[in-house]
Amino acid sequence: MAELPSRIILASGNPNKAREFEAIMAGIHVEPLPAGLTLPPETGDTFEENARLKAQAVHEQLAARSPGEAPWVMADDSGIEVQALGGAPGIYSARYAGEGATDADNNGKLLAELAGADDRSARFVCVLVAVAPDGGELVSEGIFEGSIAHEPGAAGGFGYDPLFIPADYSLKVSELPAEEKNRISHRARAALGMLDKLRGG
Ligand code: IMP
Repeated sequence: MAELPSRIILASGNPNKAREFEAIMAGIHVEPLPAGLTLPPETGDTFEENARLKAQAVHEQLAARSPGEAPWVMADDSGIEVQALGGAPGIYSARYAGEGATDADNNGKLLAELAGADDRSARFVCVLVAVAPDGGELVSEGIFEGSIAHEPGAAGGFGYDPLFIPADYSLKVSELPAEEKNRISHRARAALGMLDKLRGG
């Protein structure tokens, strides 16, 4: 069994995510992006490519700062894949209704695209890429299966949460307590899988 790193830098512009991953990856300090470091544009064709671009870019910047002593770096990419739409919006989830789209715009477009569809199955996907001090990589994917509701539920959460009904649930994610979502979500599953791989599993 490998020794767990005591800290990992999260290559993300969202400091809330560092807290969320730290709560799941017990025993590891998940630290937000240090000041002065930059993230590359997400130009990949898959969640994994986008996560890798971010993790490797931050690894390279940290390795340049302290050669041979770069800490572990991890990056995530996530989105929603809808079966009847051939997996769209996928990596374009944040800007499905266009550049600068709000969550309400994106949810409205998704409902319009699915009007009349019988198959409303969908899944959230999260891919994590972690880069070791020596540049080696670990990859972990988390899937959260469910379906798209016919209308938004109560406000809550973010993104597509008001439209997503997890498999075996009747409530939408926006109506679930945050702790419940954080136990069953794609991010939680990817993070637990990564913890396992960091332990050498
Ligand atoms: P990011 O990779 O975390 O930036 O997520 C990209 C986009 O996918 C977000 O802007 C949301 O539209 C969507 N998304 C990812 N995870 C979730 C989630 O847990 N709930 C709702 N929407 C999500």
